[in-house]
Amino acid sequence: MEDPSLRAYLHDQICKDWPEYCGEIRLQVMNTPIFNAAMAPNGYVEVFSGLLLRVRDEDELAFVLGHEGGHFAENHQIERWQNFKTTANTIFALGLVIGGVGIYNGVDTSRLIDTVRFVGLAATFSYGRDQETEADRIGFQRATAQGFSPQAGAALWSRLIAEGKASDFANIRKADVRASIFATHPLDADRLAALKALAGTKPASGPDPASAHRLRAAIRPHLAAWLKDDLRRRDFGQTFLIIGNLEALGEDMGVLNFARGEVYRLRRLDGDVRLARDAYAAAAQYPDAPASVWRELGEMNRRLGEKPAALVAFRTYLENHPRRTILGLSRMPLRDLKDPTHDTLHPGWPAGHPVGPRGLRHHRPVAGGSLSRRKVSRLHPWP
Ligand SMILES: [Zn+2]
Repeated sequence: MEDPSLRAYLHDQICKDWPEYCGEIRLQVMNTPIFNAAMAPNGYVEVFSGLLLRVRDEDELAFVLGHEGGHFAENHQIERWQNFKTTANTIFALGLVIGGVGIYNGVDTSRLIDTVRFVGLAATFSYGRDQETEADRIGFQRATAQGFSPQAGAALWSRLIAEGKASDFANIRKADVRASIFATHPLDADRLAALKALAGTKPASGPDPASAHRLRAAIRPHLAAWLKDDLRRRDFGQTFLIIGNLEALGEDMGVLNFARGEVYRLRRLDGDVRLARDAYAAAAQYPDAPASVWRELGEMNRRLGEKPAALVAFRTYLENHPRRTILGLSRMPLRDLKDPTHDTLHPGWPAGHPVGPRGLRHHRPVAGGSLSRRKVSRLHPWP
């Protein structure tokens, strides 16, 4: 992923923890909806988008980067390679099995396979429990030496454990967080307890609130896309929790409410259409909501039988997309809203014709002569 300013921002954060490696570090942000980071022996650092979506402020970021550097400094990577050969075939088989399940159930799991395979790989390469405790200790020392909050690490791990418990999948709820979130760093209650004990040795100092705003500003251009990626995991309980944590800052409310609407829309439980509608309606109050919020708001209102509200939302959407008028209609359920609003929606078109792409192919404007479809769309902007 290419974002020089985000890379520079993260580079600076690493340099705070690890000034001795600062000159050698090359950093890449990976668009992967999993909480993970890695530091290779040559100074190459990967930070996953799933991590940046979950750290709350620079104090937590400093702890995580300190933790990664701890594995690096202690040569933990070399030790974990010893696991590789025995488990590689198992992971390959796991990918095949999941693909097979998808076919048998008629469910498309193909987009999930990459993530699942990664989690399998992560389990192979994951650090041991002693290594994790050691890296936590080093990360804690590095971060607190720079003045970061001693409570930050425990706060972050607590939220990740809570996220594991919020999973839609029983096996993830039962397992510790290793199965899904902190990919190569198995996380359990003992580790959290050890970290809390460490924090107890230092005077308490809260995180720097301004740093939460700086961090959000750095990831803001990607927030909507990363939340969309996160939904690919189809773990709605976890995505709800992530959205709620992001909302605590009080920023990006249009994007976050829209994402909540998307979770309800995709989850499709009883009552979710109404909940999705309410979330989209909340999002639409904020200027940062994506333009498609009006389309989804219209669609949910249509499904609820709220025709006037649907119409207002669709009309707002179309006003915002004057150049996409005809193309967008192919997915518009406006035909359900035909008459008596027809004349308002389609001035110059014969009354009662079906609205939608088929209607457009078979009908011409009353006074339009033999205009091509394209010309018609230009002459008759919606509504
Ligand atoms: Zn670790």
